[in-house]
Amino acid sequence: MSDIPSTELSDADTVVRLTAELGAKESLIREQAAALTHIRKIFARASVAARIGVWECSLPDETLQWTDVVYDIFDLPRGSILDRTEIVKCYPEQTAKELHRRRTRAIEDRSGFSMDAEIITTKGNHRWIRLTATVECEEGVPVRIFGMKQDITEQKILLDRTKYLAEYDLMTGLANRSQFQSKLSDICERDGDGNSCGALLLVDLDGFKNVNDTLGHAVGDDCLKEIADRLKSVCGEAEIVARIGGDEFGILLGLHFSPTATANLAHEIVEALSRPVLHCGQQIKLGASVGIALVDGCAQSELFKKADTALYAAKAAGRNTFKIFERDDVSHVRGPRAA
Ligand code: GH3
Ligand code: MG
Repeated sequence: MSDIPSTELSDADTVVRLTAELGAKESLIREQAAALTHIRKIFARASVAARIGVWECSLPDETLQWTDVVYDIFDLPRGSILDRTEIVKCYPEQTAKELHRRRTRAIEDRSGFSMDAEIITTKGNHRWIRLTATVECEEGVPVRIFGMKQDITEQKILLDRTKYLAEYDLMTGLANRSQFQSKLSDICERDGDGNSCGALLLVDLDGFKNVNDTLGHAVGDDCLKEIADRLKSVCGEAEIVARIGGDEFGILLGLHFSPTATANLAHEIVEALSRPVLHCGQQIKLGASVGIALVDGCAQSELFKKADTALYAAKAAGRNTFKIFERDDVSHVRGPRAA
């Protein structure tokens, strides 16, 4: 039997046990600290790769705190002191107003918002950011607004480019056939007031194949660009000027265009396109025929057919002229400046 008193023995046991527990806890804390460091590292890498940063603004004093990525997005030195009034100046005026409106409402409603906004950084770089915000409350009082800021410039450029390709003709910069058809459908669905009209004009170059055949396709392309520019300048009041095919263009005139105003514009188009195109010191003779259908409540496909019939009649009449379709009878199309 030991001669150590039992109370001393139990104290020593307790110390040993507590020391062991402390060691285990220290080791657990070390493991958790390592895991946290690892997670932070992964988060920081992912955040940099995705160009997403975290921001926080205390309320009501508006002290800002950003993670490194947000500093990078705004071209500010990491960790520098942030002045919210100065930061807001990076947003264009209208965007800053919209941001203020949404932020104020989110604070009032204790809610949040998200928006895409353009910024001009302190170095003058234009960027697009996706901003999310959430209001945090303590005992019902908003104490903080925080969220993420992501640099979406590349996605925005890609999206704009995709939209452009879907709606515009790359060579001339005019609207393409798809955008034209959607506008034509809008016009055909509108109701006129009896006096107003509106029209569809189809413009097709005369003998354009010959330009390609004699001068080459590249020169033909330059002529198409020049024709597009002339159409844009003559048809400034049109709802849309589009390239709808190889050497074919479509123009839609709004309901305020009377038949007389339409005929006068068609006359101007024929004149403008009959002026030779100057290319590398050479004058290239061009011309165009125009077929017109006045908006009369018929279906879009029917209106297009009428304008096409009138175009065919203008070609048949010797080209370099326009015809307005009047009835479902080709023989009733009328010529330039007819009453
Ligand atoms: P018409 O007087 O009957 O209109 O005959 P055209 O010679 O103008 O020929 P048409 O309108 O029947 O056909 C259009 C021609 O336009 C066919 C092709 O040679 C040319 N074309 C079509 N797309 C392009 C293009 O993108 N670039 C160039 N350079 N030429 C094109
Ligand atoms: Mg042609």
